[in-house]
Amino acid sequence: MINIALDGPSGAGKSTVARRAAEIFDFVYIDTGAMFRSLALKALDTSVDIVSDHDAVVSMLNNTSLDICRKDGQQHMILDGVDVTGKIRTPEVSKAASDIAIIPAVREWVLKAERALARKYDCIMDGRDIGTCVLPNADVKIFLTASAEARAQRRHRELIEKGIDTSFDEVLSEMKYRDKQDCEREVSPLRMSEDAHLADTTELNLEESVDLVCSIIRKVIN
Ligand code: C5P
Repeated sequence: MINIALDGPSGAGKSTVARRAAEIFDFVYIDTGAMFRSLALKALDTSVDIVSDHDAVVSMLNNTSLDICRKDGQQHMILDGVDVTGKIRTPEVSKAASDIAIIPAVREWVLKAERALARKYDCIMDGRDIGTCVLPNADVKIFLTASAEARAQRRHRELIEKGIDTSFDEVLSEMKYRDKQDCEREVSPLRMSEDAHLADTTELNLEESVDLVCSIIRKVIN
C-alpha cells in the first residue's frame, strides 16, 4: 500500500488539499480529525465531562462504535450506527475535539483505527501526528502550514458560507487555543517530522496549494 501522511495545524487547508490530491492520484482520503470530532460530539451529547472526567471518557469509548463510509466521494462518519457527518464541524465540537485528543486512551483507540485503514488502502491520511506517530514509515510525509491569521481568515470564510455566525476574532482565538493545545500536549503533539516536506501556504491560494502538494507526492512516488 502507498501511504501519504499530511500533517499540520488547523485551518492550513489539509482536508481540501488532501481530498483533491486523493482524487488526482486515486487514493482514499482519510480525515482523522473527523474521528476525534465524532468522539467529542458523543461526549458533548451525553454530557461526559471531557476536561475533568477522563474515566468517563474511557468508559464512553468502551461503548462506542465508529465507522467510516464513503458516499459520493465524501468521507462519512457513522457513530453508533448514525451518520453524524453534518454535526461535527461546529466551533463547539472543534474545541471539544482538541480537548478529547489530549487523552492518551483516546489517542490509542483512534491510532488502532487509523493503522487498520492504512493497511487496507492506498491513502492520504491527514491529521496532526500521522508522520511522527501513526505512520512513521509513510511513503511521503508533508507538513502543511500557514500563518495563524491566514488560517483563521480561511476558516472564518468557510463557517460564514455554511451559515455559522461567528466573528473573525472568535475564530482566531479558537485557532490559537487549538494550536497551543495540539502543540503542547504530552502524547503525540503536533510537530513536523524530521523527514517531512514543508509546504507553507500562507501566500498560496487553494489551486497553488494543491499543485505544491501534488508535486511533492509526484517527486517521491514516481
Ligand atoms: O483536523 P481537525 O480540525 O478536524 O481536527 C480536530 C482536532 O482533533 C484537532 O484540533 C486536534 O486536536 C485533533 N486531532 C489530533 N490528531 C489528529 C487529528 C486531529 O489530535 N491526527
